[in-house]
Amino acid sequence: MICINCCCEVDCLYVEYSNNHIRLTDCAKCKEVVDRYVEFDNVLLFIDLLLLKPGAYRHLVYNSLELELSKYPERKHEFSARTWKQRSLLTLLRLRDWFVKFDKLNRVWILITAFEVYLTWVSEERNYAQSNSNELIEFILSRSALSQYLCFAIYCVADFVLLCGLTHYFLVKWFKWGRKVKYSKHVVSYTILLSYGVKIFPFLMLIWPYDTLLSTNIVKLVSNAYIIEALKVVTNLAYSNIIFLYVVVFLVRWISVRPLLCMLVTEGDIQFCGKFMEVEYKRLLRRLLRI
Ligand SMILES: [Zn+2]
Repeated sequence: MICINCCCEVDCLYVEYSNNHIRLTDCAKCKEVVDRYVEFDNVLLFIDLLLLKPGAYRHLVYNSLELELSKYPERKHEFSARTWKQRSLLTLLRLRDWFVKFDKLNRVWILITAFEVYLTWVSEERNYAQSNSNELIEFILSRSALSQYLCFAIYCVADFVLLCGLTHYFLVKWFKWGRKVKYSKHVVSYTILLSYGVKIFPFLMLIWPYDTLLSTNIVKLVSNAYIIEALKVVTNLAYSNIIFLYVVVFLVRWISVRPLLCMLVTEGDIQFCGKFMEVEYKRLLRRLLRI
């Protein structure tokens, strides 16, 4: 656990007395209250998250997450698996423990992914209707509704897993961040998940007539800025490092997730994938030249 003001490590956030009253701990270094968000209502916390208040992010991804995960210590199962039946039982027990432990995180993740899949589907359909030149999207849209949904769901999940995994990998590898952080992998995933929440806003644009390509691009830019700012707040690294890392992660996602979707849709047709990537590459070049 950390002090949300100066980020120094602390043992506890508050002291609980027998009459259920709590007293918030003061930080020995900065003399401020270690984590005032302990007493905050969820609505106020959500507003502070939208306003990108550093304390709100640090409270959720460090203190709240550690308190939640420490309720479920790593359980050692009593027997060592020898037969395949014991091994399957052990796997099921570990899977159940994992779902119980990460219940809250999984709920947030499922909610945001559901929004993301629908918005990606809508925006790809709209882009295709306007430009009429994307063979991959044309191929996907010619399938049944369930198949279309599954394709975009796999695309969004793969993209998100790659975003979290690569960000954590580069933070540790390049900037030596997170060696003292107990749940560093989950801290990065949770930070990205919380800042991803901004992507829900285009839903309002589907209701009101502001759903132009310009406004969609503005929302994409804002959500990327949110992720960069949230990572900066949580890791305390310089903006230049975070932006460099984010650009590298973006490029790796761009060259791997779309081809993956392409391979999936065409059932491994490498020739079609190559052709599609060439079209996408030319389109990106045209966009960059226009800028
Ligand atoms: Zn402090």
